[in-house]
Amino acid sequence: MSTIADNLSTLAARIRAAALAAGREPAAVQLLAVSKTKPAAAVREAFAAGVRDVGENYLQEALNKQAELTDLPLTWHFIGPIQSNKTRAIAEHFAWVHSVDRLKIAQRLSEQRPVDLPALNICLQVNVSGEASKSGCTPEELPALARAISALPRLRLRGLMAIPEPTDDEAAQQAAFARVRELQASLGLPLDTLSMGMSHDLEAAIAQGATWVRIGTALFGARDYGQP
Ligand SMILES: *Cc1c(COP(=O)(O)O)cnc(C)c1O
Repeated sequence: MSTIADNLSTLAARIRAAALAAGREPAAVQLLAVSKTKPAAAVREAFAAGVRDVGENYLQEALNKQAELTDLPLTWHFIGPIQSNKTRAIAEHFAWVHSVDRLKIAQRLSEQRPVDLPALNICLQVNVSGEASKSGCTPEELPALARAISALPRLRLRGLMAIPEPTDDEAAQQAAFARVRELQASLGLPLDTLSMGMSHDLEAAIAQGATWVRIGTALFGARDYGQP
């Protein structure tokens, strides 16, 4: 087996164990393979091992990889910060966007979503770590923003996304993810998605209801930001 295939089976076992420990169906937790800084060849290898959903943070890097992988039936997710001038390409080239945190961006994505594609799946990113994070709306902004976004015609609001402050303390991880789950429940909207949990904290996220875990390092290995 390739390293990526090996890593994927280790991850599948971690996800399964965490789901069962939480009394959840393992199939209710999906793996999003986060391939930022990794070449298209690594995504191809992940596909061969069974990956179908790929997450990217940087638009141009994602478009380059998509162009190399048009032969594969992959579902692409945008998970990085979004500038207004990038919304059209994101609306055209992705099935999901996990990192929406303001109405202006959501409105542009809705207006720019091509009519021949299904509604764009959206997760609203919420900041549960206060000053420690620049991305995500505040818990106070969340209700009005979620209501406004769910009214946009070409978007389908699926749920929340969060990136809590990294910590090795599992109780603190659990508390942050529980907050996201509670915020989602308090909205009273028909949402089915919680995008939370990464390589180091997926167990805590699954215990608190994650439906997408976004995994980079544990699947593809450490990222090398020194490469062009
Ligand atoms: C890079 C990234 C991930 C993956 O993180 P790992 O710790 O490598 O698993 C997940 N979500 C987002 C938004 C990211 O930017």
